[in-house]
Amino acid sequence: MSELISVSSPIIGEAEKQAVMEVLDSGIVAQGPKVAELEEKFADYCGTKYAVAVSSGTAALHTALQAAGVGPGDSVITTPFTFIATSNSIMMQGAKPKFVDIEPDSFNLDASKLEDAYDQSVKAVLPVDLYGQPADYDEINYFAADHGLTVVEDACQSVGAVYLGWRAGSLGHLACFSLYATKNIMSAEGGIITTDSEEFVKSAKSFRQHGMDMNGQYEYSQMGYNYRTSDVLAAMAITQLSRADNFNRARIYNAQQLTAGLEDVEGLITPVIKPDRNSVFHQYTLRVSEDYPLSRQELIGHLKEKGVGTGIYYPRPLHLYPHIASLGYQEGDFPVAEQAAKEVVSLPVHPSLSNLDLERIIESIRGASNV
Ligand SMILES: *Cc1c(COP(=O)(O)O)cnc(C)c1O
Repeated sequence: MSELISVSSPIIGEAEKQAVMEVLDSGIVAQGPKVAELEEKFADYCGTKYAVAVSSGTAALHTALQAAGVGPGDSVITTPFTFIATSNSIMMQGAKPKFVDIEPDSFNLDASKLEDAYDQSVKAVLPVDLYGQPADYDEINYFAADHGLTVVEDACQSVGAVYLGWRAGSLGHLACFSLYATKNIMSAEGGIITTDSEEFVKSAKSFRQHGMDMNGQYEYSQMGYNYRTSDVLAAMAITQLSRADNFNRARIYNAQQLTAGLEDVEGLITPVIKPDRNSVFHQYTLRVSEDYPLSRQELIGHLKEKGVGTGIYYPRPLHLYPHIASLGYQEGDFPVAEQAAKEVVSLPVHPSLSNLDLERIIESIRGASNV
């Protein structure tokens, strides 16, 4: 039996280890010069004026929504087909996630449904660049400008992705990244906000530091949290950022190989990337349609036997989790997202895969429906 090909795997090299050791030796381990350096380099990478580093992607989302002025009684338009943190961050501010259904091909929120979801309570739009592919920002930004809304991009899965020549992170008013262990670049835990607005930066830097003023220690002008990160993690993130384009190139190559090997399999639908953007393939996600001879669970079981790990992102759309359903949602509200949750399965696509691994994944899947 060959070794398991896992669905994700962080890459930690000598450069990361050395960067971390240097910080440990320096004696400055909390938020300091390495965090500032990460912020400058990350903003540069995304093509924004500023970046603010925080402790997680979730903290980044919470901080960005607070900067956008989202508060109790407000609502935020978002997608039901994403990680739970997208919606939880809205609820952390006492606001309500107002879902619009997704597109069946890209799995991103369907921008043609935005207008129907609008009412006076809406203060912001929070699209997600799911699996690494940017959402429809042209339509989203047009809609937002029309109603005076702030666009917060959940770019936790899309570092380095490009939409109409613009990098993820620069596609709305604010964007949020995660540096969690499974993301395209990582520092075990961590998060970053990018923006062109000095006002948002001021607000975010205060919010991550207990609500402290810029002009005085122990002067607090608003509620805040401890959302700081550390120089130890920032040093790792700086090294990973310098490798981001190489990592992403490998993911894109792996995805191309998988699609070439699988696109003719009856009943399996390979990822659809729109022509004006790319995906950095945080996940490579198949749809197991009704025309496929096996159930999704049978396919997953077969792959497990062959030593190929898989993941389901995500098994339930957010409006069906109890704490969110209780806001007034029920089964049937977002049928495209509900169908996707039943049909998706993600395959290994990370940069550590060899050509042999890719062949094994493809052959295992091709073999599954021939038996
Ligand atoms: C990972 C992720 C988050 C949360 O990031 P953490 O660093 O785990 O808090 C939020 N949204 C999306 C879409 C994610 O993939």
